[in-house]
Amino acid sequence: MKIIDAHLHFCPGEPGYFEEIALAAGHENTESHLRKEYARLGIAGGVVMGNGVLSLKEHEKYPEYLRYCIGLDSFYLQESGGRVTAEAWDLVERHLQRETCAGIKLYPGYNPYYITDPMYGPCYELAAAYGKPVAVHMGETAGTGAVLKYSHPLTMDEAAAAHPRVQFVMCHFGNPWLQDAACVVRKNENVRADLSGLLEGRIVMEDFFREQGGYISYLDTWLRYMGDYGKLMFGTDWPLANLEDYIEFTKRIIPERWWEAVFSGNAAEVYGF
Ligand SMILES: [Zn+2]
Repeated sequence: MKIIDAHLHFCPGEPGYFEEIALAAGHENTESHLRKEYARLGIAGGVVMGNGVLSLKEHEKYPEYLRYCIGLDSFYLQESGGRVTAEAWDLVERHLQRETCAGIKLYPGYNPYYITDPMYGPCYELAAAYGKPVAVHMGETAGTGAVLKYSHPLTMDEAAAAHPRVQFVMCHFGNPWLQDAACVVRKNENVRADLSGLLEGRIVMEDFFREQGGYISYLDTWLRYMGDYGKLMFGTDWPLANLEDYIEFTKRIIPERWWEAVFSGNAAEVYGF
């Protein structure tokens, strides 16, 4: 079965946070290790959720099996004093003109602005013009500096309704607000979701499913309510979680007849593989 990882972060060799979480997940934060693991597990490619600066050069570092979303993260928005300049939108457009750029990534929560903030207007215009998706961090945030009300999945409903020509991707299925996430994905034809960020580190599958039985049944309930598993995409949030665990976990929560769509078909369509 072909697999595409619809959500990863690519900061190889960066000491500190990324190195620590990679080790905790049983991995090494290097490109050669990622390449080897993808090959071993049948992962044909992945979508990097861009962090850091907007320069064109910064996003030329990805190996051939990865595409990227150009990200407006808190690093960028703090540097810019909380506004996206016209020059920045020009740069975003130049990214979108590249075949390797698969879309735009927004980070509400980490940025204290709703995705309906008027400053993001050009984001949706560009996404519609280039036919590329807007992926949005939704749900819980790492660390304590962020503000959760901005990353609540219900906030995507208004943006999706206002921009029907834009394909939205709700990252992390809005975890842990799964009920709201299911409702927003179900209601809006132009919203799909990735299943990254639900696991961290290494897990022992049987223990996890036993100890987290309440959570698993809640997840199962709202995935079923949503109805269309075909709107979901496999993603690992590499290097946050163990890749092999993630494949096994996803197989357990998604009925087998949907595996093709969830593991690759949907990502191929949305991110253009
Ligand atoms: Zn992520």
